[in-house]
Amino acid sequence: MRYDADTIIVGAGLAGACAALTLSRNHSVHVLEADAPASGASGAAAGLVNPLMGRRARPVWRLEAALDAVPALLEEAGAPELFPDTGVLRPAVEPDQVEPFQDAADAHPDLAIWLSPGAVHERFPAVQPDRGALFVPRGGAVNVGAMVRALLDAAEQRGATVETQAPVLYWRETPAAAVVEVDRGDDTEELRADRVLLALGQGFSPFPELRRLGLDGVKGQTVRIRRPADLPGAFPPMSGRGYVVPEGDTLVLGSNYDNNFDDLTPDPDATAYIREKTSKMIPEVDQPPLLDETAGVRVKHANSNLPLLGPLPRRERLWTFTALGSKGLLSAPHLALDLPTYLDTPSTLPQEVSTRSQ
Ligand SMILES: Cc1cc2nc3c(=O)[nH]c(=O)nc-3n(C[C@H](O)[C@H](O)[C@H](O)COP(=O)(O)OP(=O)(O)OC[C@H]3O[C@@H](n4cnc5c(N)ncnc54)[C@H](O)[C@@H]3O)c2cc1C
Repeated sequence: MRYDADTIIVGAGLAGACAALTLSRNHSVHVLEADAPASGASGAAAGLVNPLMGRRARPVWRLEAALDAVPALLEEAGAPELFPDTGVLRPAVEPDQVEPFQDAADAHPDLAIWLSPGAVHERFPAVQPDRGALFVPRGGAVNVGAMVRALLDAAEQRGATVETQAPVLYWRETPAAAVVEVDRGDDTEELRADRVLLALGQGFSPFPELRRLGLDGVKGQTVRIRRPADLPGAFPPMSGRGYVVPEGDTLVLGSNYDNNFDDLTPDPDATAYIREKTSKMIPEVDQPPLLDETAGVRVKHANSNLPLLGPLPRRERLWTFTALGSKGLLSAPHLALDLPTYLDTPSTLPQEVSTRSQ
């Protein structure tokens, strides 16, 4: 059987791009993207790398490995500067967060420190909440769109093909190959590979075979404003009441969570909500004019907060890499690092994320 590539990856968001980089080490890879790289959730993300998430600062799955994987993959792509050494700040915005945040600092002394209100004020005078904050030096933020493009560029330098405006309409499996049908405008074309990895993000919804995995979509958006001129001093990316991520002379603010959405366009009411919410941490963010607003859909598994990776049910050559939820940066790089091994030996897939455990 002649293959067009060893592995075809469908979707050039964070999942597809991380996979393209690591698989292109030893395989021929062909990426098919319906639109442009990072045109889905990856283009809307604020890019926080926050290993102690949520109201109670709970550790993410495989916290240490997940944190190490982000700089490792960027280093491999020759773009380490995309993850600057800033740390991430978690202001306690409600009184009942102080204790769990202090507990998180006690439980992970190598990873997080508790800053008293006085220490927060001294180090980051722009930050309002006066209840103290958890500071995670190894966290930070990455521009996810730039990361996706850097990973794909590096994969191309290793010989991978990255095609944009190439929607996949259909897939099937034969004993000898995985086959995808690509929309070529007036025509369609079939491409064959040893394996196909479906990394479609919200693009799962037209496909019953993917819907049956129990995927769910939650729309959200981020808002970009110019950094207010009168803000006192610098501060790291923050996650408290919403999040605020400094990027050059702009700030990226997020986010909202919408389970019932009809379209994927940004919503002015959500923008107003985000600005109001984040102004509780930095009051000045309410003032500057809006530069940009971007919406995307976080895909998650209905019953778990973990990603999904592995062959589709009753398939061997058709795999999926999805359900990255709201913390793609802490799961896609980590799982992609071992993806070549998982594809060769599916029994090594971690049970918690394996499609075979569903
Ligand atoms: C508002 C918002 C804020 C977020 N903030 C953070 C954050 O701070 N930190 C963090 O870690 N995560 C964050 N996330 C989550 C993160 O963005 C996602 O987990 C991650 O980007 C998902 O990547 P993906 O590759 O699975 O999906 P996507 O980025 O959606 O990529 C899927 C790609 O597949 C393509 N595609 C779809 N169907 C087809 C088809 N039939 N044929 C070919 N191509 C197809 C799409 O065009 C798209 O480019 C946020 C998400 C949102 C929405």
